[in-house]
Amino acid sequence: MSVMRGETAVAGDDVRATRGGRIVAAVSLLAVMLVGCGSRSTRPRSREDVFQDRLRVDTLFITEDGRRFTRPMNPDRVIVVEGGKLAWPAWQCDNPDCPGRGADGKPVLFPWPDPFKAAAADGSITDRQPLTREDEALFEKFIEQTCPECLKKRTIASENKARRQQYKNWCQPHVLPSAAKQLKALERELEAMLGREPGPPKS
Ligand SMILES: [Zn+2]
Repeated sequence: MSVMRGETAVAGDDVRATRGGRIVAAVSLLAVMLVGCGSRSTRPRSREDVFQDRLRVDTLFITEDGRRFTRPMNPDRVIVVEGGKLAWPAWQCDNPDCPGRGADGKPVLFPWPDPFKAAAADGSITDRQPLTREDEALFEKFIEQTCPECLKKRTIASENKARRQQYKNWCQPHVLPSAAKQLKALERELEAMLGREPGPPKS
């Protein structure tokens, strides 16, 4: 309840053109400049704006046949490319001994295609539920994410649970350098926002 009252008080201060209000406006302007979002809106950016921007950072998408596209992330977490094919957010394999690791030491990048999603003729994404026994087997295979390069050398049937889990853990979302920058700027913006809001008293 006290938090709610605190937020109401802040809203009241913003409305009145007090000195504090001007400082708040200056901080939000600085935050907008830091993010470089280019928005010309006079409305101060909210936490919701920051959260939404975090869901739209630059993402590398890869088709099953290896074509790569850099696009903002979207709620479907997939994009439709030429030929009605789907491209999926890139994952990387952090296994130090991954056979897909390049000569430069960089991890292999690969898509994690959801077999239940497809592109409709109008370019929208369709998503069906696993219904049959075959679907369920397909789903089981899909949820155990594996690096396609490591898979070539693995004998899953003879692996213990911990080893199998380790292979799964080595698969991590690939973050583009530009996305890392965007996320950092958004994090700073959020910190600036939280810094000017009255928080619970620190003891
Ligand atoms: Zn691997």
